[in-house]
Amino acid sequence: YLDRQQLRESNARSYPRRIPMAIREAKGIFVTDVDGNVYFDCLAGAGTLALGHNHPAVIEAMQQTLTGNYPLHTLDLTTPIKDRFVEELFASLPENFAKRAKIQFCGPTGADAVEAALKLVKTATGRRSVLSFSGGYHGMSHGALSLTGNIAPKSAVPGLMADVHFLPYPYDYRCPFGVGGDNGHKISSRYIEYLLEDPESGIVPPAGMILEVVQGEGGVIPAPDAWLQEMRRITSERDIPLIVDEIQTGWGRTGNLYAFERSGITPDVLLLSKAIGGSLPLSVVLYDEKLDLWKPGAHAGTFRGNQLAMAAGTATLKYIMENQLVDSVKVLGDRLMQNLQQIQGNHPCIGDVRGRGLMVGVEIVNPHGGKTAYPELARKIQKACLERGLILELGGRFGTVVRFLPPLIITADQIDAISEIFAQAVEAVN
Ligand code: PMP
Repeated sequence: YLDRQQLRESNARSYPRRIPMAIREAKGIFVTDVDGNVYFDCLAGAGTLALGHNHPAVIEAMQQTLTGNYPLHTLDLTTPIKDRFVEELFASLPENFAKRAKIQFCGPTGADAVEAALKLVKTATGRRSVLSFSGGYHGMSHGALSLTGNIAPKSAVPGLMADVHFLPYPYDYRCPFGVGGDNGHKISSRYIEYLLEDPESGIVPPAGMILEVVQGEGGVIPAPDAWLQEMRRITSERDIPLIVDEIQTGWGRTGNLYAFERSGITPDVLLLSKAIGGSLPLSVVLYDEKLDLWKPGAHAGTFRGNQLAMAAGTATLKYIMENQLVDSVKVLGDRLMQNLQQIQGNHPCIGDVRGRGLMVGVEIVNPHGGKTAYPELARKIQKACLERGLILELGGRFGTVVRFLPPLIITADQIDAISEIFAQAVEAVN
């Protein structure tokens, strides 16, 4: 017989490699493993679990759906559950976007929305190339991987989309122009404009530009509002559809319901997944009606929009709105950042603490070597946190950014508790 470890897909999958546990129970922000150990879950399905595990509002919505003889699968035929989800979703969007927006349900996972967006803007513009950003993460399917900055997973797959131009993202901590001020983003946006104007830069007119407002997997890097406004201006002036990937940031994570709202920009295409399914798989692409040039059936698929996920998603959104979670995320996020900055004061291995709302990253560097990346130490800190009951994931260019993505329902006391565990873990490995 195969042993337990073989039966689990630990070696092939990414998360269990560093978080080697089997989870038996989950409630709120806690998970319990098969041995009875309890952990704070600050990975939370990579930001999916906005209301934590098994929130009563979400469970109730699922139970009602399951016991009411509602259709659980209709291909993409409309149902009252779907109508309600779309209605609530549109009501949650800034009006100037919502009034021109069309919606397309995609496959279950975030990358499906990215694929749909790629097809959409290519079809609408008749152009083939796409602008993306260094450090950007858009998923692991073929097209989405092409848009992803990380070379490691790409190098094993020959023949990804060739027409992707990577532009510099305003990563001020490591950008040589960004030190001590906010010049980095100005230089970065001027440079991008210069590349687009230079007939010999090798950039052909693109079908779209895709960006994250706060890079997540790339290392929790918030783009300055002024830079986002510049990207909006640069793309508008050239008729380039701007695709904002809010798969990780959407629905309150950053202290705005949608992260792009803070800068006042309006995307042409908005990608949502993770939180919108209330812990179940769901992804959508919302796009300006001017791009609606694809023919009926141009993006069909059997599983586009799961009814149970829509019911869970609607309950999640309602709870977020009715309980003003977006406001509390701001306050809790500031508290977490302040706690972590205090820890940084005692530990030179913490190079940078940054983030927005409850999307916070701590960049680990060599305490003796300036900003030299120190992935071994980051992994040790992650492990020390796990041993003390705190699940955190690593990200960033060098795998050195410890990422805090707790459920949005975390309390101030719990913020202090996870900060304390993190402080002890850093202390223990130094
Ligand atoms: N875009 C962003 C910004 C993401 O964070 C992710 C997932 N981490 C994806 C796309 C891909 O989503 P999925 O893993 O569900 O395919």
